[in-house]
Amino acid sequence: FEEQIERNECLTAVGQMAAGICHEIRNPLQSVKGFVQLLGEENQDNENVKAYGEIIISEIDRANGIIQEFLQLAKPSVAKFLRKDMNALVEEVILLMSSEALMQNVAIEARFDEKMPLMLVDESRIKQVLINLLSNAFGAISAQGLIEIDTKYDAETAEGRVTISDNGTGMDPETLACINQPFFTTKEGGTGLGLPICYSIIEDHGGHIQVESALGKGTTCTIILPESAYFQPD
Ligand code: ADP
Repeated sequence: FEEQIERNECLTAVGQMAAGICHEIRNPLQSVKGFVQLLGEENQDNENVKAYGEIIISEIDRANGIIQEFLQLAKPSVAKFLRKDMNALVEEVILLMSSEALMQNVAIEARFDEKMPLMLVDESRIKQVLINLLSNAFGAISAQGLIEIDTKYDAETAEGRVTISDNGTGMDPETLACINQPFFTTKEGGTGLGLPICYSIIEDHGGHIQVESALGKGTTCTIILPESAYFQPD
């Protein structure tokens, strides 16, 4: 619970976020500047010009991506909560990711709880959460990858759960303690906004996310959604 409070403080600490954004945007800007300067030098052969151009575009895309993701996080949620079949939703996302699974040689095993009732969710945002969590799972897996997805309805607490487990690199406790911080990333080219966005979306649904991880073994993320804790205003 304490950690929850701490994290919320992080998310609302505008100064910290702004500093993070500046830092994240400054890097691609610096490298764009460097390559534009190189382009300005005389005697550049065509091949260099082409390569620099490509780097410049990818750096601009990166800066743009950071801004895009950040806006998503900062944007007040537009409620579009409808009763949806969670199992069908999970299945659609698996289908979306299936070509990546094939390419990366990762097996996805899914088990669906038939007793899962229709859940009050914002479909596109829940899909975004599932895609983010699955992308992280893919990112953590090397050889012999396996991702297991389970849906489960707990009638006692009236909660729907979606568990995504991977047998990837896992995380040490220090890393695990930081993953909810905006801009925390261990990936080259990572934004560190994926999980904060997931947390914020699930909280908007009145739910929460649990993450367990063991270094060298893998990671399990569980989305816990109340069946009807969200009451639409008016
Ligand atoms: P990003 O993917 O851009 O790094 P995230 O917020 O999604 O941003 O993740 C933050 C960090 O949490 C990752 O860089 C990685 O270190 C760690 N992480 C997240 N999911 C997993 C996972 N399934 N397995 C191992 N590490 C993970």
